[in-house]
Amino acid sequence: MPCETRTTCPYCGVGCGVIATVEDEGKVSVRGDPDHPANYGRLCSKGSALAETLGLDGRALYPEILGERTTWDTALDMVARTFTQTIAAHGPDSVAFYVSGQLLTEDYYVANKLMKGFIGSANIDTNSRLCMASSVAGHRRAFGADTVPACYEDLELADLVVLVGSNMAWCHPVLYQRLAAAKAQRPAMKVVVIDPRRTATCDIADLHLAVRADGDVALFNGLLAHLAESGAIDENYVARHTAGFAEALLAASHGSLADLSEATGISGMLIRQFFRLFAQTEKVVTCYSQGVNQSSVGTDKVNAILNCHLGTGRIGRPGMGPLSLTGQPNAMGGREVGGLANMLAAHMAIENPVHRGRVQRFWNAPMMADTPGLKAVDMFKALADGRLKAIWIVSTNPVVSMPDADAVKAALAACPFVVVSDIQKDTDTARLAHVLLPATAWGEKSGTVTNSERRISRQRPFLSAPDEARADWWQFAEVAKRMGFRPHFDYSGPAAIYAEHAALSAFENDGERDFDIGAHAGIDDHAYEDLLPFQWPLSQTGASQARFFAEGGFFTADRKARLVPVATPVMQRPDPRFPFTQNTGRIRDHWHTMTRTGKSARLSAHFAEPFCEIHPSDANKAGIGDADLVRIDGENGRSIIVRALLTERQMRGALFVPMHWTGETAPSARVDTLVSPVADPISGQPALKMARVAVSRY
Ligand code: SF4
Repeated sequence: MPCETRTTCPYCGVGCGVIATVEDEGKVSVRGDPDHPANYGRLCSKGSALAETLGLDGRALYPEILGERTTWDTALDMVARTFTQTIAAHGPDSVAFYVSGQLLTEDYYVANKLMKGFIGSANIDTNSRLCMASSVAGHRRAFGADTVPACYEDLELADLVVLVGSNMAWCHPVLYQRLAAAKAQRPAMKVVVIDPRRTATCDIADLHLAVRADGDVALFNGLLAHLAESGAIDENYVARHTAGFAEALLAASHGSLADLSEATGISGMLIRQFFRLFAQTEKVVTCYSQGVNQSSVGTDKVNAILNCHLGTGRIGRPGMGPLSLTGQPNAMGGREVGGLANMLAAHMAIENPVHRGRVQRFWNAPMMADTPGLKAVDMFKALADGRLKAIWIVSTNPVVSMPDADAVKAALAACPFVVVSDIQKDTDTARLAHVLLPATAWGEKSGTVTNSERRISRQRPFLSAPDEARADWWQFAEVAKRMGFRPHFDYSGPAAIYAEHAALSAFENDGERDFDIGAHAGIDDHAYEDLLPFQWPLSQTGASQARFFAEGGFFTADRKARLVPVATPVMQRPDPRFPFTQNTGRIRDHWHTMTRTGKSARLSAHFAEPFCEIHPSDANKAGIGDADLVRIDGENGRSIIVRALLTERQMRGALFVPMHWTGETAPSARVDTLVSPVADPISGQPALKMARVAVSRY
C-alpha cells in the first residue's frame, strides 16, 4: 500500500506543506498539502521537483577522518577530544560552530545549548546571518523583540502591498501565487515593487520603483515625512503606543523632492504617486527581503520601513503591517532557539543578565556565555588570523556563500581543526574537513521548522537514513556527552528536545517575552508526531496568535514601540575602475549551492549555466553581445567568468549575477569571491548586493 506522510518543503521561508507518497516499490512522489495554511495545496517548481532530488548521488554515507572511512565512535571521540583540548589550551572563545537555516529547530537547539551553556562561548552563528540578521536587529530596535507582526493572510486582505527588495515571484513563489490570485480576484488592490531590477514580480505590479542600490532609507524617510505632511499619521496610536516619533520625523524630513529623486534614482512623479498611494490606503502590507537586509545599512532600512507602519498605526490589524520574508526554511526557528551569536534561546538577550541567569538556571549550565560571540563575517576573519583554532560547520557551504569566499577557503585550509556535517560528501567546504560527519537529509529527518509568518510545522521522515547518516541533533548531543555533559544531552529523540525548547520559552515568562510555546512543554512522542501547523505564541489553552501590536503591547520596558531615527546614507562616489554595482541573488529553480536542486534535470533546464544580467546599452559600450562570455573583476583583485544576458530589466550601471554556482560546477563562477566582507555594523549582515565591479568581454 502506498504510504503518505505530511511534511514541509525544505527550501524557502514560505514553508509549504508537502504530502510525500512512497509507493510499494519505493518510488516517491510529492504534492502540495491542501490542508497546510501556508500553501493550501500549491507548490512551486522547486517544491514539486523534490522527489527528483532524493537520490544518493554524492551523499556522505559514513564518517571520514582526513578522507578515510572511520567509525562514528572514532570520529565523535576525535571531535570531542579536540574541542576539549583546544578549549583547555586557548579558552572557550577559541572554538566556533557555523550552522544553517537548513537545520531543524531541534538540531539548532542542541547546538546552541552546547556552545552557549556548556562550552561557555557564544561563538555560534549561522548562514541566517547572511539572510535575516538586519530584520532581527530592526525588529528588536523597534519592537523590543524579534517579533513578526503580520501573517500571510494579510497579503490577501490588503488594499496595497509594497514589496521592497523582494523578487517574490522567484524567491517566495507560493506566496506570490497567493498574492497574484488575490489581486486577480480584487483588481482594485495595488501592488508596488521597489527593486533596482524589473523582476518577474513586476508582472503584477501597478508601480515599479527602480530604486538605486541602498536608496531605500531615503525613500522611506521621504515617505514618513510625506505621511506627516499629508495628515496620515495616526496621532492616537503614536501617542499611546510609541516613542521617538518626533526624532524619527526630524531625521526623515530634509531635502526636496529633487533631492529625493537624486538619492533614490526614481523620478519625482513616481515617488509622488507611491507616497500618495501609501498615504491614502489604510490597509497596507510592506514585505521586504534580501534587497533590504543584505546591505551595510540593512538595519536602518528595516527601521525606516517599520517607522512608516508605526507612525500610521497600520500594524497588527487584518491587511496591515510590515512582514519580513525569510529566505531559508528555518531561519525563524533558528532565531527562536538563539542560533545567532548575539542572542540567547527563546528570544532572550545575551547582554541581559536576568535573561542569562534564567537560561543558565533552566539548563543547569556550568559555563554560561556572557558576551555576544563572533558573527559570521567576523567568525571567518577570526579563523583567518588564528584566534579560532577549531570550527564545526553544519549544513552550509561558506566557501561558496560567504563574502570574500576565497579568503574563507584559505582560512579554513589553514585552520588546525575543521569538522563538517553535511548530506553531501564533496562540497567546496567539505573538501577542507579534517572530520566529515554524514547527516540525514530532507525525507529522513524529523523535527520542526518555522516559516516567515511564525508558523511552526513538522518535517517528518518517510525514508530510512541511508547507510550511516545520522541526524544533526544526535551528532551534537553525542559530542556533548563525550565532552562530559552527558546528563544534559541525553535526549531520546526530537520530541524530547522540542518539549525542552517549549518549556524554556515559558520559563519565568509572564508575558514580557514574545516567544512562548510553553503549552507544548509536556508534549509526548505521539502528540509531537501529530502536531499540526500553528503560529506562535500559544496561549496556555493552545490557541495561536496571528498578529501582534494592534493595541500596542510591545516588548520594551515601557511596552511602547520605538521609532528609530535613521540617517540617509551618503552615496558612494563611483570608482571609474569599478563602475558597476553587482547585485546577487536567487534564480527561480535553484536553491543555494545546488547540492539538491542540481540533481533535477528539469530544474537545471531553467538556466543551464551561470550568467550576468547587463543592460544592453552598457553591454554595447563594452562590446559585449548577448551570450558572450564576460569577465567580472572585483575590487579585491579576484574575477569570475559568466555568460552575458542582455536585458532591459537590469538598470544601467548595475549587474545581477546568481549566487548558486560553485567551484565544482563552474570553476570561475563563484560570485561571492568578488564581494568584500563589509557588514552592517548593527546586524553584522554582509552587503552581498553591493560589490563594486568591472565587466569586460572574455
Ligand atoms: Fe518550497 Fe518555497 Fe516553493 Fe513553497 S514556495 S514549495 S516552501 S520553495
